[in-house]
Amino acid sequence: MIREIVFYPDPVLRQAGARVDEVTPEIRELAADMIETMYDAHGVGLAAPQVGVSLQLAVIDVSHDEECVSYLRVNGRDTELTEICPLVFLNPLVETLGGKDSDTEGCLSFPDLRGEITRPYEVRATVETLDGETLVIETDGLFARAIQHEVDHLFGKLFIDRMSSARKLAIRRQLKEMQEQYG
Ligand code: ZN
Repeated sequence: MIREIVFYPDPVLRQAGARVDEVTPEIRELAADMIETMYDAHGVGLAAPQVGVSLQLAVIDVSHDEECVSYLRVNGRDTELTEICPLVFLNPLVETLGGKDSDTEGCLSFPDLRGEITRPYEVRATVETLDGETLVIETDGLFARAIQHEVDHLFGKLFIDRMSSARKLAIRRQLKEMQEQYG
């Protein structure tokens, strides 16, 4: 079922999500709905707070472009993006590695808004799956960027927080319009 995506400045986007300690049928349904909602909205990632649920659960699919990472290791094993996407993950812990990189990002909770965001280029993310497995995901490129963007959501952080002060100034009016429209 496609869920309604909440837009900035909905306060749920600023809450830190609770850890998911038990994977109930409702959690599995939420994850399935989030994948459907992400595809419907043509996004590459979606976090539970973006559908109004304050939990540490997110989905990502960047497998449309096999070239968007230069490597991907899952639990130490070389892995194809199509093997792991769509990825549903819980309770993430992210270590950032490597140099910084700048790229344009969008966010499904900010329709019409995009911006250059500088982030570390590589990550090592330790996450849990719906089946209780722990995955250590090491990757770079768009996958690493998407993981960082979604994990930020799980802790109440938004991509506008990571924009340069010049860009923040430039979008002030758009944010104000969103506050009036969705606040
Ligand atoms: Zn987002």
